Amino acid sequence: MTIKTQNPATGKVVKTFEAHTDAQVDEAIKASLAAHKVLRDWSFEKRAKAMNKAADILEDEAERLGEIMTLEMGKTLKGAKAEAKKCAWVCRHYADTAEDYLADEMIESGASKSYRKYLPLGPVLAVMPWNYPFWQVMRFAAPALMAGNTGLLKHASNVPQCALAIEDIFKRAEFPDGAFSALLIGGSKVERVLRDDRVRAATLTGSEPAGASVASICGEEIKPTVLELGGSDPFIIMPSADLEEAVKVGTTARTQNNGQSCIAAKRFFVHADIYDDVKSRFVEAFEALNIGDPMKEDTDIGPLVNKDGRDTIAKQVENAIKDGAKRVTGAEAIDGDGYYFKPGIIEDIPESSDAYHEEIFGPVMLLFKVKSLDEAISIANESPFGLGSSVWTTDKAEQEKAITRIEAGATFINSMTASDPRLPFGGIKRSGYGRELAAEGIRAFCNVKTVSIA
Ligand code: NDP
Repeated sequence: MTIKTQNPATGKVVKTFEAHTDAQVDEAIKASLAAHKVLRDWSFEKRAKAMNKAADILEDEAERLGEIMTLEMGKTLKGAKAEAKKCAWVCRHYADTAEDYLADEMIESGASKSYRKYLPLGPVLAVMPWNYPFWQVMRFAAPALMAGNTGLLKHASNVPQCALAIEDIFKRAEFPDGAFSALLIGGSKVERVLRDDRVRAATLTGSEPAGASVASICGEEIKPTVLELGGSDPFIIMPSADLEEAVKVGTTARTQNNGQSCIAAKRFFVHADIYDDVKSRFVEAFEALNIGDPMKEDTDIGPLVNKDGRDTIAKQVENAIKDGAKRVTGAEAIDGDGYYFKPGIIEDIPESSDAYHEEIFGPVMLLFKVKSLDEAISIANESPFGLGSSVWTTDKAEQEKAITRIEAGATFINSMTASDPRLPFGGIKRSGYGRELAAEGIRAFCNVKTVSIA
């Protein structure tokens, strides 16, 4: 895959990049290991000072950084600026909490003193996607660096300027040279990095095939991995819910980031008693979305990331309709420059249709009418994925049932699934394993050393 910036709003290639040679990659790995040996001896206070400086840059330069994101992958500029600010939040969160998350934990045993100690592992390879080109990276990088690890970033080939901008932020924040490096390489060069003894672990956010490949190589190399893959999150609306709020939030949950989010609500299960009412409210909300130039402040929906992305979604919708599903509104490609796609809704999706089980990585709502919460949970759990879930009900017993029975890494009640530096984030089943953020995120790439002093 060529490493290039191609503006999804116009289809034009703006800039191409020379891939790094094997020798350049080796240099980066060498520098990463050397930086780890420096960083592991820094106090938490010193690491926090650098991390807060990274946060300052992200906040002060949110406009400039946002423009790079919008140019490369098409998200709205307002969403991109918010992303830069959220990245500042994760940096500050770990600057403030890393010392507590990684404090020694005393354990009673027969010894005079015994405890858990969290120690960094060394260079970690992060294979990252384009959809949240800063956030996905920073939620790995902030805890990794605060723990004393170093980061090697293999970013998606369509967001090289984002990758280089992130590297630059950590340099200007005065982390040791080489503490965070962007490797401009294609997916086929990842194996060589994973098999390098100096690289101690890997994290990947992206598709199942990429995740399976990285995990199997790391399996052979006996290296830990965290995988954050796709999702087809359920959004369940029961009669007791605040319908106005559920529809407003549901529309955002399905269409934000132009519908390209792993934790987007994708399958909407609505109780039969309120189905027609909720459907017409969603139609109204979807038809009111402003589709257009992502750089403009009043745009809600920009283009999809590239031609392939748009064609795949258009095909998924077309196939579902051939299988018997009904188009309620939109859900079709828009002719003209750029990779625009009209957000839409389809219903009556037969169980035999691929759309019933697949992830649709774009702004298409799959609407299901259900007779009960049990039925909604049962269909929700038929998915091979298990990332997030959102349930709208004021009934305490229903809330409890959803929390314990939905097979997912997260259940949000009366709000949409969202990542938050304070809360663990990750999935089960084919959505991956391991957790990012919170205490779990910083401990994921630590040696949990048992210390026993007789
Ligand atoms: P990919 O998984 O192809 O890309 C994600 C990252 O993995 C990129 O850096 C990519 O590099 C790299 N990669 C791809 N194949 C390999 C491989 N065999 N070995 C090592 N690294 C690899 O995702 P896509 O962008 O193609 O999106 C396809 C699907 O992935 C979506 O439909 C969605 O299901 C899922 N996805 C999930 C995301 C999430 O947030 N969980 C985010 C984005 C996608 P390169 O760009 O050079 O190919």
